[in-house]
Amino acid sequence: MKIYNSLTRKIEDFKPIEEGKVSMYTCGPTVYHFAHIGNLRSYICEDVLEKLLRFSGYDVKRVMNITDVGHLSSDADTGEDKMLKGAKRENKTVMEIAKFYTDAFFSDCAKLNIKTPDVVEPATNCIPEFIKMIEGLLEKGYAYKAGENIYFDTSKLKEYFVFGNQNEDELMVGVREDVEEDTNKRNRNDFVLWFTKSKFEDQALKWDSPWGVGYPGWHIECSCISMKHLGEKLDLHCGGIDNMFPHHTNEIAQSESYIGHKWCNYWFHVHHLNDESGKMSKSKGEFLTVSLLESKGYDPIVYRLFTLQSHYRKPLTFSYETLDQTVTTYKKLKNRIAAIEDSGDVSEAAVKEWHDKFAEAVGNDCNTAMGLTLLYDVLKSDLNGATKLKIIGDYDYVLSLNLLKPEESEAVDDELASFVEAKIAERAEAKKAKDYAKADAIREELAGKGIIIKDTREGTVWSRA
Ligand code: AMP
Ligand code: ZN
Repeated sequence: MKIYNSLTRKIEDFKPIEEGKVSMYTCGPTVYHFAHIGNLRSYICEDVLEKLLRFSGYDVKRVMNITDVGHLSSDADTGEDKMLKGAKRENKTVMEIAKFYTDAFFSDCAKLNIKTPDVVEPATNCIPEFIKMIEGLLEKGYAYKAGENIYFDTSKLKEYFVFGNQNEDELMVGVREDVEEDTNKRNRNDFVLWFTKSKFEDQALKWDSPWGVGYPGWHIECSCISMKHLGEKLDLHCGGIDNMFPHHTNEIAQSESYIGHKWCNYWFHVHHLNDESGKMSKSKGEFLTVSLLESKGYDPIVYRLFTLQSHYRKPLTFSYETLDQTVTTYKKLKNRIAAIEDSGDVSEAAVKEWHDKFAEAVGNDCNTAMGLTLLYDVLKSDLNGATKLKIIGDYDYVLSLNLLKPEESEAVDDELASFVEAKIAERAEAKKAKDYAKADAIREELAGKGIIIKDTREGTVWSRA
């Protein structure tokens, strides 16, 4: 498998630390609001990556955090805690907000066929681990106390900007909102490990620590949660491109200073989904959620297909027009698959050959568009029906587009249609035998199920009431 590594800025052969096994960490959502479909683009692409690794034979352990404390409005440690903002907006407690939006996130993921990671850990579960790492960083001289907060001292590092491209405009967007100078910092890029002096009088979540009552910074969460479950050497770390700086840069700074060696080998970043006006937002313009798409009649899986049509390292612009085109593509694809007759014997050799083709093509830096092309190649091939269906099922493990699932409404309609047709035939027999009471009873039975029947010159026809 090949993967673009943001750390080296090259496509590399993927070689995990332990043969056949992959440790994978994903930055989870900040659960102060619904995820927008941009956030979910990142989770879809990461889901494909995880499944592709499994498809290629790796045993994957994937861990994800839930950010339920410490993520401030600006990624540069300024502004209000996002969770508190959510609680105020809805007049609820922070923990109520966290529970509600964590559940909403996983419900959206389920609708998009995004697999739940093997371990999901809320930050508020790990306060002792955060304190231990911060103590270690203080002992080693990488952190200092100023005002009443604990900061990471970036001047102690040989190299801080490990991703090298922190000046890219798109990376700076999230950092620039609401930035205010923190005069406690010794260096401009230093960041908070532990807030003791709460900036907000009513900071809801606080814990005792060696430095007084307070709460953790956002970045420390991912370093600790990853090490807690995946150890001090990590194969793969994922997130949206905006996480590259400062979040992942800070994660690397503190993790490697703490453990004293290289931490993570591969960094996978998904580029943004934008709306037609630019950056997607939860507060401005139309708040694009999975539920909104559903309320407009879209199957969420169509959105998954929409994202798979483009490469994860290219920005993608959302429009209803393109989504509508994807609806048509999806319908045609499903119809073509539904029309395949399950006949002949499955050719295991062909299944293996097409499996390897997919692993190689999509495994070349997560090229999902190539995966879709291969799917059409299978449809066009002269393989027998049974073999085609087997290969499509295999591909759909990674693509997760419900390719072999019958359309629910059609399945119900088919069942209903044969029931109604049988009743109409029974009624015709009853009428022929002049058993009008029975014929009327059948009419009433059908009416009770919302079916209206009408006798015409061409025969009895039916419709839904
Ligand atoms: P958050 O809930 O803000 O912590 O973000 C959750 C994930 O969504 C992170 O990996 C972000 O990098 C990612 N993300 C945020 N905005 C977008 C976007 N417009 N397109 C794709 N991914 C995004
Ligand atoms: Zn993170």
